[in-house]
Amino acid sequence: MADKAQNEGRRRQRAGLIGSALSFGLLIGLAAAQPASAADCPGNPDAIGTSRTIVVDPRQHPRIGTMQYPETLPLRDHEVVLSFDDGPLPRNSDKILAILASQCVKANFFLIGEMARTYPEGVRKLVDAGHTIGTHTQTHPLTMNRMPIERAEAEIDDGIASVKAALGPDADKSLAPFFRIPGLERATAVENYLASKGIQIWSADFPADDWRHISSQRVYDLAIQRIEAKGKGILLLHDIQARTVAALPRILATLKEKGYHIVHVVPATPDRPATPTEPQEWQLRPPSETVAVRRWPEVPNFFFANAEAFAAPAWSDFAGSSGGLVPRAEPFDRPGRRALARDRWAVVPPLSAQGVANTLPIPAEAVFQIPELPHPTPETVALLAPPEPRPATSAGEAIFRRGKAEHSRGKQAAKARKPGHAASTTSGRGA
Ligand SMILES: [Zn+2]
Repeated sequence: MADKAQNEGRRRQRAGLIGSALSFGLLIGLAAAQPASAADCPGNPDAIGTSRTIVVDPRQHPRIGTMQYPETLPLRDHEVVLSFDDGPLPRNSDKILAILASQCVKANFFLIGEMARTYPEGVRKLVDAGHTIGTHTQTHPLTMNRMPIERAEAEIDDGIASVKAALGPDADKSLAPFFRIPGLERATAVENYLASKGIQIWSADFPADDWRHISSQRVYDLAIQRIEAKGKGILLLHDIQARTVAALPRILATLKEKGYHIVHVVPATPDRPATPTEPQEWQLRPPSETVAVRRWPEVPNFFFANAEAFAAPAWSDFAGSSGGLVPRAEPFDRPGRRALARDRWAVVPPLSAQGVANTLPIPAEAVFQIPELPHPTPETVALLAPPEPRPATSAGEAIFRRGKAEHSRGKQAAKARKPGHAASTTSGRGA
């Protein structure tokens, strides 16, 4: 018991030291009216520092991280955001905090509710050090993709409540509406629930596999290789892992050496508007590099100006039987398609007598004769009545339906094949 109290005392002392060092760093940063950079990191001229802080609005961008989503943070080339999951666990989280403090780096943390209940002082240390904290469920289940939504909601809500309890009266101000799904086991219902609460889901752009039983050297290698492959993004780490503690100083040193910058992310509030961005900045690669359509050269007008082969069609060619223009129906809009077919049939322009003579023999008059009967009978009424409208299941319709069914089957098969689409394929990402 005495030992425990002593340990606790030492821990508080350490936290106090880190806290004051950070407050000092914060003051320096504020005095310079710029985020901390290597030059103003006290006692460490080699620090990588935090190059800038971006403010994001979760409601405008509810899901980020290219491991799973189309959007990621609006980072510039060679900018990296550090994110740490699963803490706080004082044994290792305190060491991560000390490394970050010595490098004047601010990071984003995703805390587990049960850990926050067990180590509430660990939560407060993170906030006092100026890091951003989000949540990561109450018990870290790796089944968020297949549990009943009520249970998933409870995991999310309880996790938030636990971290808030650790934070005390300032909870609402200190807890960011940022969330990471354990194991990145996403599900649409979970995503919808979080979006409805204005909480941003953070996937990641690159993990370093630091939850696996690998060496810290391997964690370092994977982090650097994967960051280099994408050039910018969110790095997923775990502050509870000893191998991460061992790898982090080298990761930061190498990033600095290679010209990378660390970016800190905070949520928008009524007094802190989101950093202005363009939509394409939320994509890892700007759309102009991947979407070819916008770059097709336009067909020059002179091509048509000199063409004499076809006469310009008359307005009447486009007119429906009612005289109005036929609306351009969507190709798969069935009622529209039928109307289009009828109207086109009705406006075939009459051929000139000369044209007919040149191509087809004039039909005999007998072809048009209808036997005259003294009294109409049900049979003659049927014969003279206009034809029934085309049944919906004509041959063309059947082909269309078959094609559509095959298309949708193909899409389903493609979905099933696509890696990472099904939530069940994400296991092992270890968020
Ligand atoms: Zn996790």
